[in-house]
Amino acid sequence: MSQKTLPFSRQKLEQIAARVPTPFHIYDERAIRENARRLVGAFSWAEGFKEFFAVKAAPNPYLMKILHAEGFGADCSSLPELILAERAGITGEEIMFSSNDTPPEEYRAARGLGAIINLDDISHISFLEEHAGLPELLSMRYNPGSLKGGNAIIGHPEEAKYGFTRDQVMEGFRVARDKGVRRFGLHAMVASNELDPQYFVETADILFRLAAEAAQVLGIAFEFVNIGGGIGIPYRPDQEAVDLEIAGQGIRERYDAIIGPAGLHPLKVFMECGRLITGPYGYLVAQVLHVKHTYKDFVGLNANMANLMRPALYGAYHHITVAGKESAPHDRTYDVTGSLCENNDKFAINRALPEVEVGDLVVIHDAGAHGHAMGFNYNGKLRSA
Ligand SMILES: *Cc1c(COP(=O)(O)O)cnc(C)c1O
Repeated sequence: MSQKTLPFSRQKLEQIAARVPTPFHIYDERAIRENARRLVGAFSWAEGFKEFFAVKAAPNPYLMKILHAEGFGADCSSLPELILAERAGITGEEIMFSSNDTPPEEYRAARGLGAIINLDDISHISFLEEHAGLPELLSMRYNPGSLKGGNAIIGHPEEAKYGFTRDQVMEGFRVARDKGVRRFGLHAMVASNELDPQYFVETADILFRLAAEAAQVLGIAFEFVNIGGGIGIPYRPDQEAVDLEIAGQGIRERYDAIIGPAGLHPLKVFMECGRLITGPYGYLVAQVLHVKHTYKDFVGLNANMANLMRPALYGAYHHITVAGKESAPHDRTYDVTGSLCENNDKFAINRALPEVEVGDLVVIHDAGAHGHAMGFNYNGKLRSA
């Protein structure tokens, strides 16, 4: 079970809404910092452990600065994300550039900032060399293919557009070594919103073994293994958060079993989570404009899927609290809708809620990652605060 409570009262929310027009996204800094420390604590055994916050999840300079102050770097995948990182004071090897289908000028910008470049394909070695020059430190993204089971958002690794095959990654490290690259990293990201900690232990295991083999066969030194992002969050109240201690300890056991004997210690463990870091600590706040009774009962908000598209895009569940009515009986059933001229513009379908009235403030939970970030301007809707 996960608690779906609010870190603010209705009264506090009304005070905020008097200054900031609804709809808006609001974040809980204290909870973000506590969670960041929990993650770092779970990997305190790993020398040089670093989380590179996936900027795309919440490209907000205030959040990026808070996370940087907690020791996090930035995982960027585009030029604007690189610029955001730089403006937030994150540069050099505190940036992981994990892009795909990348234009030349973006590689040049990443090189200019001294970011760690994580290549998506074997053909990108010569592309990078031609357009930006090869750096001293280079990482490659491995796609384990059928070695790894599928996951709902990314799907089966063989079907995914990302990464090198096993043969390609071995060949890629050999080519890069022969071209003078001296420091190496290995990366994989094969899941999204995955709640089973063992999934990440297995990913680390696959990467540790591959790094050990490549180091032995090619005589190269690995500096880090990046196990990617994708740690899920309990969107539904009946789901359980990933126990980071269990994930950390499981990865530590594989590290001790594989990396020590292979002579690769100290090998840094990196991560590039987004959702886990800010997801549960951001809320979309909207006001009820209309309550409509036809064949069903509808609550119409002044927010719409341009403010949070996950329910419409993935059929994702987001918990909803009607502020101040937390303990009222949830004896009504509503579709909670936005105003786009799209029938799938619904935050919830057949949701049990207390009786809703026009003017109520409605809080949509777990909107802190891939929420405001995925916003768009269809129907001429403006981005919210
Ligand atoms: C999306 C993405 C992430 C972050 O994913 P989360 O599910 O938010 O943790 C990290 N790395 C890469 C390469 C990504 O594409």
